[in-house]
Amino acid sequence: MRILIVEDEVDLAVAIRRTLEEEGFACDVAPDGVEALFKATSWYYDVVLLDLMLPGVDGLSVLSRLRGAGSKTPVLILTARDALPDRVRGLDAGADDYLVKPFAFEELLARVRALLRRSAGEPSPIIEVGDVRLDTAARLVMKGGTRVNLSPKERFFRSEKRQNLWGHDKGEAENDQP
Ligand code: CA
Repeated sequence: MRILIVEDEVDLAVAIRRTLEEEGFACDVAPDGVEALFKATSWYYDVVLLDLMLPGVDGLSVLSRLRGAGSKTPVLILTARDALPDRVRGLDAGADDYLVKPFAFEELLARVRALLRRSAGEPSPIIEVGDVRLDTAARLVMKGGTRVNLSPKERFFRSEKRQNLWGHDKGEAENDQP
């Protein structure tokens, strides 16, 4: 299980990482919004922990860009903002859960486990063949760790293939019609 920790407070990021790694999770840390977007769109994560107040691109923008790109990765917002409008904005932008700082690490772990249980009920959007990884939810194709850009025709072809593989197309083929 791989977790992306998006947090600009170094001490907190280190402490979260240590806590998660002790529980057996593999972790990457992104200290700002730009790196968060880069990592989240370049590699697969089971959960993203997302601070809202970030240098550069803020957490809410990171979240809406990820969701706009089709990412369904569970996102847990970590923030000092306790105001109701902020929580509502975060959830509206596509967050799955919300944790207000300061929080207990036990609660963080419990919420991460809950998100993983919830997403475990859904079929994995990842198909891997050799060094090629196809994320059918985010419509990303990675080869040897590098993103491959697809033409609309190729996306349509892959959508057709998926239909054949799984017997259904999750209603996405229409959007791919050339
Ligand atoms: Ca921050």
